[in-house]
Amino acid sequence: MLKDYYAILDVSQDASLTEIKQQYQRLLLIHHPDKQLQQQTATASLKGSAGLKLIPLQDIKEAWECLREPNHRAFYDSSLQAMRLHANGQVHDDIDLDDMDFDEGSGSYTFPCRCSGEYIISEDELELGVDTVVCSTCSLIVRIHYEAAEDEDDEDTN
Ligand SMILES: [Zn+2]
Repeated sequence: MLKDYYAILDVSQDASLTEIKQQYQRLLLIHHPDKQLQQQTATASLKGSAGLKLIPLQDIKEAWECLREPNHRAFYDSSLQAMRLHANGQVHDDIDLDDMDFDEGSGSYTFPCRCSGEYIISEDELELGVDTVVCSTCSLIVRIHYEAAEDEDDEDTN
């Protein structure tokens, strides 16, 4: 499951890099460990009145590291979109990773869509836990089944 970096940074998905950076820096200040201590103290003394949710600094940094790079962001956006659509139950088909073609050059798996487009998922995406792909041409989505860990069936024993 992907983390929603936009939710973590509390920015909209079409926020500009500048906006995201400002928000990142703001959150860094708010959620800095030293500040958190102060806040916890403050929260303890003002019980119930402080509604600020503390976000792990690690998540904030991770979100920024991803969104600051246009390439990473584009890739993340498509993964996030697929995940959301998946959550909405709009998956058109289930396919097995074994049925996909592996392209060593790009390190990605492809599967033809009925619209003559392609479903493409990279090894990096698989490692991130992405299991849904939007067609490169139409808006259909497939869910890809694969074993995250090595789990081979020995069928040769017969
Ligand atoms: Zn298609």
